[in-house]
Amino acid sequence: MGAHFRGPSALLSLPAALPHRRRAIRSAALQIDPIEKKPLNHFLPGTRVFSLGTAGCNMGCFFCQNWDISKSKADQVRSTHISPEDIVALAIRYGCPSIAFTYNEPTIWGEYVIDICHAAREAGISTVMVTNGYVTREAFHDIYDHVDAANVDLKAFTEGFYGRVTLTHLQPVLDTLTWLQQETNVWFEITNLIIPTLNDDPREIRLLSDWILEHLGPDVPLHFTAFHPDFKLRDKPNTPPETLHAARRIALETGLHYVYEGNIHTSAAHTSCPSCGQILIRRSWHDVLQNSLRDGACPSCGLKIPGRWKISESPSSALSQDADKFADTFGALNL
Ligand code: SF4
Repeated sequence: MGAHFRGPSALLSLPAALPHRRRAIRSAALQIDPIEKKPLNHFLPGTRVFSLGTAGCNMGCFFCQNWDISKSKADQVRSTHISPEDIVALAIRYGCPSIAFTYNEPTIWGEYVIDICHAAREAGISTVMVTNGYVTREAFHDIYDHVDAANVDLKAFTEGFYGRVTLTHLQPVLDTLTWLQQETNVWFEITNLIIPTLNDDPREIRLLSDWILEHLGPDVPLHFTAFHPDFKLRDKPNTPPETLHAARRIALETGLHYVYEGNIHTSAAHTSCPSCGQILIRRSWHDVLQNSLRDGACPSCGLKIPGRWKISESPSSALSQDADKFADTFGALNL
């Protein structure tokens, strides 16, 4: 997944007896992140996102940075039951206008995702899938008809990489991206983690960028992010910043409008107007330093910048009160 869990130290010390309301599964990781960490740069910039994950995954990535939970079964990680309504109450309590399903693959706990989405929508809270995009046609709409945004990993652009390094296949991920574009209103962005010698060939970057332009259009943001050695892939070096710069140049030359670099300190974290070049959102790492957008448009030339820029509704007062009521119960959370 694009957003990484901090590791065991971030596992929360949850109270043993949470108020239980209805169906819940065991959450193994809870954290509050900047939305830019997912990464999403065109979705409620500068806000916090209540992030949760469980155990397991439907891919077998050798470079997984969350392998301690993604390679575990539910009974092998410290976890707790939290109902969908309590997840929403916690998000409100901690000032998060959105909830992200992340750290491991949320498709495998899709029922829980859907239940949380229903509760979140009632409360005016948005929802985000941080996903590998490996989902069947049958399950796709069951999940994506309910979420507001997604970041999809496009881990490489060769079947060989997907087969050897993730133990899965490329085409289903491309299908998911196409369905997202053609059949939903989900705001989505793409992450490509570049690993030296495995998927950093400029020709592959060009093919990937060409495919995005042709099938999804120029306005889907693309994030090139830096690898660091982890799990079973410790024999590869960190991705040099120059590799990300080169990949970004290729994608921009191809015609993509919003191309970012991640996991390094870079000026390519800013959002710029593709028409006049003005910097619209200035970032440092995951922090938004300045947002100059005016009603979602460039203040200089007026170009509408695609994205979801406004928090749609304030959380329902009933749920806010509910969250306050449980403040003591959730006070043990180190969020
Ligand atoms: S998709 Fe790959 S990187 Fe993401 S959690 Fe699963 S195994 Fe890890």
